[in-house]
Amino acid sequence: MSRLVIAIDGPAASGKSSTAQWVADRLAIRHVDSGSLYRAITAAALDVQPAYERWTEADVLGQARRVRLAASGRSFAALVDGRDAGERIREPDVTRAVSAVAQMPGVRAWVNDEVRAAARDHDVVVDGRDIGTAVFPDAPLKVFLVADPWERARRRLVQQLGRAPSDREVAEETDRLVQRDAKDATQMVPARDAIVVDTTYITQEEQVDRIVALARAVTRREDVTSEG
Ligand code: C5P
Repeated sequence: MSRLVIAIDGPAASGKSSTAQWVADRLAIRHVDSGSLYRAITAAALDVQPAYERWTEADVLGQARRVRLAASGRSFAALVDGRDAGERIREPDVTRAVSAVAQMPGVRAWVNDEVRAAARDHDVVVDGRDIGTAVFPDAPLKVFLVADPWERARRRLVQQLGRAPSDREVAEETDRLVQRDAKDATQMVPARDAIVVDTTYITQEEQVDRIVALARAVTRREDVTSEG
């Protein structure tokens, strides 16, 4: 019986990670967030040298031994020095530096190895930018989430601020997201066999329902037909 791998790729703030976690919970399988590793190694490197413009690939990879993924229920936590780095890795200085780190081929190879190791022996939902193209090119289900940048920015701010953002706040966040998408553009090309899901006008629950239905369609396995 082959393993089920569901690849969910897409741009910044497209809701990949929360959707992937929800899909994993519904299917009673595990979620791996590849972006958390790029973020964790960036956070580790920032401890040592805050001026990220000066980092070489060797400087960043030198921090890899401080970072690992630890299984935690249906997901994995990124640990730095053995501690859960969950909040630290979402801070703005990490978000600013991470795209430069993600351009380093050695870092990409390290992340891909860690993600494949976490996914070994388990059915998984993996989210990122290049999961369906580079990490699991043979995944039986590849989803590419897209959404209008303004709507992605608005959703992110509602999540961060816990209130409706002003148009000015949304405009500023849209600008940041579009800039990060441009930096990530090379690794963010949908796989030829990816199913593109535009989430601009659907709720997260509808996105999850669609992906769960697709997962059930691509596999006749009984263990992915249970409701979580
Ligand atoms: O998904 P998230 O926004 O947390 O990812 C953080 C950064 O990590 C992205 O902006 C991108 O530079 C990089 N990334 C990547 N490939 C992945 C996942 C993330 O290049 N598969």
